[in-house]
Amino acid sequence: MTSPFVHDFTGKVVVVTGAGGVLCSFFAKEFARAGAKVALLDLNLDNAQGYADEIVAAGGIAKAYKANVLELPSLQAAKEAVVADLGPVDILVNGAGGNNPRATTDNEYHETDLPEGTKTFFDLDQSGIEFVFNLNFLGTVLPTQVFAKDMVGRPGANIINISSMNGFTPLTKIVAYSGAKAAISNLTEWLAVHFAHVGLRVNAIAPGFLVSKQNKALLFNEDGTPTPRTGKILGSTPMGRFGEPSELIGGLLFLADENAASFVNGVVLPIDGGFNAYAGV
Ligand code: NAD
Repeated sequence: MTSPFVHDFTGKVVVVTGAGGVLCSFFAKEFARAGAKVALLDLNLDNAQGYADEIVAAGGIAKAYKANVLELPSLQAAKEAVVADLGPVDILVNGAGGNNPRATTDNEYHETDLPEGTKTFFDLDQSGIEFVFNLNFLGTVLPTQVFAKDMVGRPGANIINISSMNGFTPLTKIVAYSGAKAAISNLTEWLAVHFAHVGLRVNAIAPGFLVSKQNKALLFNEDGTPTPRTGKILGSTPMGRFGEPSELIGGLLFLADENAASFVNGVVLPIDGGFNAYAGV
């Protein structure tokens, strides 16, 4: 996976949370390939370390840090280590996030005659909803509090959040994840306004449908055949296919690039093959 675009982030320090995961490890690699010094933060240090090692082996500058985006002391410790190792932070990518089955209903529509054992909206437990909402929303707010403090007034500094298609219109079944991503889109606009006088831009990308480990079980049966949900997604995506992680990179680097996007602020950029634009008729 490579990006055809040329952005120069030489000398910039980029923090990516959730960088032990599928998409954000790729984001970290692409920032490093564009010259940035990249701090890969993740709850799973082994995964983040593995990706940092890959970046260094390819000639880039990267370091991995264990950090929990839901715990301020953990984030503060990571920030101090990043600044000591790589220098002051220029760009923050709030990537840690995801859904969880404990906040996902089995059924798209509530019916009076659902089969016994169906996990309905009424069966979702509070802790599952809290887990997903906190991971995505609070897990974007807290790293922003910790890292943005010293980014204020720093030329070119900016933040990229990760929203989703469900941030525009909720997707069935995933009630907490949809609500949390809508909150992230809203937060992106709020932060963009809040920091506008101190030169800190805040934008988001909203990836469309990609196949990843967190949604694979919803998209494909165990035998690899597509689920009905996959048919609906592709039928609602005018370009008629899933996206590739590499197709997020142009938007990500564009928004982060102070030369390309110096007047772009508070934008939630759909990268979705037209899904968000399509009413279905
Ligand atoms: P992923 O599950 O591969 O990676 C998420 C990473 O976050 C993991 O490495 C995990 O260890 C880390 N993490 C979880 N809890 C954490 C915590 N408390 N503190 C620090 N790190 C923590 O997910 P992904 O598919 O790479 O998704 C990355 C982002 O993109 C998420 O915000 C996700 O919601 C969003 N997104 C993904 C898709 C998609 O199709 N994959 C679509 C739209 C948006």
